[in-house]
Amino acid sequence: MAAFCVEVADRAGVCYGVERALRMARDAGLAATGRVHTLGPLIHNPIVVQDLAASGVEVADSLDDVESGTVIVRAHGVVPEIVREASDRGLEVLDATCPYVKKVHRAAERLVSEGYRLIIVGEPGHPEVEGILGHAGPGAVVVSDPAELPTMEIGGKVGVVVQTTQTAEALSAVVAALAARTGELRVINTICAATQERQDSAAKLASRVDAMVVVGGKNSGNTRRLAEICRDRCPATFHIEDAAELESSWFAHARVVGLTAGASTPPEHIDRAVEALRSIGEGLEA
Ligand code: SF4
Repeated sequence: MAAFCVEVADRAGVCYGVERALRMARDAGLAATGRVHTLGPLIHNPIVVQDLAASGVEVADSLDDVESGTVIVRAHGVVPEIVREASDRGLEVLDATCPYVKKVHRAAERLVSEGYRLIIVGEPGHPEVEGILGHAGPGAVVVSDPAELPTMEIGGKVGVVVQTTQTAEALSAVVAALAARTGELRVINTICAATQERQDSAAKLASRVDAMVVVGGKNSGNTRRLAEICRDRCPATFHIEDAAELESSWFAHARVVGLTAGASTPPEHIDRAVEALRSIGEGLEA
């Protein structure tokens, strides 16, 4: 019998939008006769980015680095000008923008067209937020915290959309601060449940296991956040990118080991980590 059992969080790994973008990129790599580039890394997972490069899908930092072939727009989306410029230059555009992100673009465009001053609750400079700003046009403002509001002139009709990965608490805080300062406030809640579901599921599991493994890119913000949430509840939390990093000494006294993975971690990476953990468990017992 193995020294410990392994439990995987109910919600773990790639979300719908990332899974869809990955599938589109892999298919494009297989079908392409010319070069294929993603505009920026498709996801924050170095192993996946390397695998894609091996199948002919390379990363371009910007359109200037693409001479011909196909460009893939990431799940985060981009400003409309980039799609226009790519088409004007004769490049084929494969738009892998997550449909939930597109919903934010449409909400922003609608509010602006109806005369609302747009506030985007999100992380300034984040690619998804830049894309939303591009669809909203000039005059839209990004805030991540209500403390940023008092310096701004606000009044009349104010519309709010929110970056898909923000929390309900962040949105509520900004909305509460705005409510006292605007005549008409219209809020379109564009938060995607995928992030929250993964966090809730990881927190629940981490609260009742002896050790926790979080699989995903070290450069992935959502995976790092999952690791923090787990560490708060289970100090023996280990963030790995690949199963090969697992060490048996981490689990010497464990009876139950939990595992979760960020929204940019494909199922095969989860399977490899589970398999490696099971074999460590068997080795410890032997
Ligand atoms: S987190 Fe939600 S909005 Fe973002 S890519 Fe995944 S499914 Fe789409």
